[in-house]
Amino acid sequence: MTVGGGYPDDSGLTVVIPCYNEVENIEHSYAEIVAELGEFDLELLYVDDGSNDGSLDVIRRLAESDPRVHFISFTRNFGFEAAFSAGYRYARKPWILHIDADQQFPAAEAHKLIAAAKSGYDAVFGVRTNRQDPVLRRWGTAAFHFIGRRLLRIELPQGATAFRLVRTELAKRIVDLRLGTPYFLATVPRLTNRYTTVPVAHRARARGESKVGMSFLSSHAVELFVGFSRRLSTVAATACVLSGALALVVALATATGMANTSALGAALFVLLAVCLVSLALTVRSLVVVGAGQPRPRLYYIREASLPIDEADRLLSTPSNLGTT
Ligand code: UDP
Ligand code: MG
Repeated sequence: MTVGGGYPDDSGLTVVIPCYNEVENIEHSYAEIVAELGEFDLELLYVDDGSNDGSLDVIRRLAESDPRVHFISFTRNFGFEAAFSAGYRYARKPWILHIDADQQFPAAEAHKLIAAAKSGYDAVFGVRTNRQDPVLRRWGTAAFHFIGRRLLRIELPQGATAFRLVRTELAKRIVDLRLGTPYFLATVPRLTNRYTTVPVAHRARARGESKVGMSFLSSHAVELFVGFSRRLSTVAATACVLSGALALVVALATATGMANTSALGAALFVLLAVCLVSLALTVRSLVVVGAGQPRPRLYYIREASLPIDEADRLLSTPSNLGTT
């Protein structure tokens, strides 16, 4: 493939489908994907993110009946960033279509992403025009983009979602960076300016529940804010210096008798000292996270239908305990 060329008509496509306890959805979404995209040289790569509801059995059956289907299964639930990262790492076609297992993004909408990629992009992100999620999630996303893009000046494709078409080479490069704070959406613009967004339709979840909670989303957002911008740590450091200076003034005023409420002055001093220490600790942790310190591997694999790197496997042989 020519680097810099657009999406060629005969390009193969790996459809990466992260699944965490999606037993009711997997067969429906498989049928929809092959009906809508069967014309392409397809590989369907399911990433079972440590499901315990029988999702893996359904995926195994699909893989037995359709040679286009492959899977990777994690030893436990590692979260969606880990799930799609593994999918990207093991994708074998030149382009990746990332689609959720719950059919919230209609597979037919992929044609819009493909049409856009043909004009020469390395990554095309779907943007939900009529998002069918609870109001709290919609507001949360609006706040996330406001803080990330406007306040912290992080380059994020506006409104971009996980429904995306990405050149496999680019996706693998990003995974190989092994960032301490991985955030795919924000990493693409750091590597290429050949990305765009396309409006796509969105559906409400028909079966099962959302697997990503607000607490996970907010901590993932904080990782982005800290890992991809220095503004937050600058504000914390400034507050640190100011509160320290204020504490000194209060201390001096108390010492020189300018403030007659010495008890109040002392209390204020202690308060500000505590504030100073906590801010210093905050700055330290921001720097540590921001510098991308090593942390545990993103995921471990227990089973796969395609060859995988042994380093990604937790145990070299499956346990036979309890079987005859
Ligand atoms: N998912 C995953 N691991 C997780 C959480 C979610 O692989 O820890 C998958 C999930 O099965 C689905 C996709 O990621 O295919 C998006 O998750 P979900 O639909 O719950 O997210 P939402 O649409 O609510 O943002
Ligand atoms: Mg969903």
